[in-house]
Amino acid sequence: MIEPATERVLEEVPRASVQDADAAVQRASEAFPRWRALAAAERAQLMLEISRAVRERLEPLAVLEARNAGKPISDARGEISMVADVFRYYAGAPERLLGQTIPVAGGVDMTFREPLGVVALITPWNFPLAIASWKLAPALAAGNTVVLKPAELTPLTALELARIASQAGLPDGVMSVVAGRGSDVGEHLVCHPDVAKVAFTGSTEVGRRIGALAAQQIKRLTLELGGKSANVIFADADLEAAALSAPSAVFGNAGQDCCARSRILVQRSALDRFLGLMESAVKRLRVGDPLDEATQMGPLISAAHRERVSGYLQDGAPVAFRGQAPEGPGYWFAPTVLAPVSNDDRAAREEIFGPIACVIPFEDEAEAITLANDTIYGLSGSIWTRDVGRALRVARAIDSGVLSVNSNTSVRVQTPFGGFKQSGIGRELGPHALEHYTELKNVFVATG
Ligand code: NDP
Repeated sequence: MIEPATERVLEEVPRASVQDADAAVQRASEAFPRWRALAAAERAQLMLEISRAVRERLEPLAVLEARNAGKPISDARGEISMVADVFRYYAGAPERLLGQTIPVAGGVDMTFREPLGVVALITPWNFPLAIASWKLAPALAAGNTVVLKPAELTPLTALELARIASQAGLPDGVMSVVAGRGSDVGEHLVCHPDVAKVAFTGSTEVGRRIGALAAQQIKRLTLELGGKSANVIFADADLEAAALSAPSAVFGNAGQDCCARSRILVQRSALDRFLGLMESAVKRLRVGDPLDEATQMGPLISAAHRERVSGYLQDGAPVAFRGQAPEGPGYWFAPTVLAPVSNDDRAAREEIFGPIACVIPFEDEAEAITLANDTIYGLSGSIWTRDVGRALRVARAIDSGVLSVNSNTSVRVQTPFGGFKQSGIGRELGPHALEHYTELKNVFVATG
């Protein structure tokens, strides 16, 4: 593992093989009957134990995540705290997996939510443990056993969580981590006949491939993919609030965030004032050592990724202004704002996954909606206005899974998260995630 802020070796981890993946699936298959049969209250108690153990180790886990992924320590603490919260939240699920009774003729009809079996979880490098927990906790709560394949670049906290869960009392085989390559171990898990479902977060390109492979076995699938979300700012908004928070909405996690509001749509009459306010906020962004408490943005994840992101500044890209970034070792990239950009430009159409924002002017509400929807993605987005009627009209009209008004938040433990269109299939978090880790069974009992 290379530390993105220093380019030095952080730790060496043996690469898991396809045989390791097979062994993990076998252990998970063997553990499944006992795990699903465990009293719901006991499963709940184990989830609470994991939550408590993660919170106890919050600081070392946060430091490990900050160093491995190159993210600011304050962000890493928030993410590890969320992991503890996600396990706590889904500890309430085993005892509340309720069915229904349905009035029918001749008997009693009832539904059950049954676990699926062995679930493979494949996760990315941008929010390594947080995104893993969004899948692990509901899958385990519903009675499934899991095999987690973390991203090759950032497996350290997932490996640590497996140890923590085992010490907390999770039975052997219920949760395994195989730190291998996506192209072999990942695909092998997707195609494995004993894997009942795959939950994936990552690129739309890999999501398409996993979808095609999973279709061979009609395998259950949750996909959380890319985004190119719009931050729509009307002239009647609190412009200062919108402009001062716009940088963190796209440069947070160095832009390596599927929810990044990377298309900033600004009503033309407010464009100059908005850009002036935003420029001073971007110039103030503290980019540097992830372990420095004051840091707001770290480096990119790898040299190859920085190369890819840099490609968007070629061919006369209209750079309006940039923030600062350290010199020397580390995969640094200064936050960059392009303006004005057409929604047809490459930088406005492709997910850059780096700290580059496009500012796109619009005239009126109808054009704002058209532009916001003119993308293959539909994950997140924001609407800034003081007109509550307009806020709701626009929120209903944008084809996106997670929207916020006068705020740039997307993710909460208690609320559903996921995308429209090519941003994915299914929902994570909140009560809805459990639907994706269970099958609905209908049982009729004749009373005649
Ligand atoms: P990938 O989609 O390549 O990787 C995500 C996960 O899938 C990793 O664990 C990866 O393993 C695994 N994987 C890769 N190929 C396969 C395969 N054929 N079968 C099964 N699993 C596979 O994303 P990257 O991490 O490389 O990032 C590339 C782009 O993806 C970003 O620039 C961004 O556009 C998008 N992305 C979106 C995220 C989101 O939150 N929606 C998160 C991360 C990336 P391995 O690490 O070994 O390659």
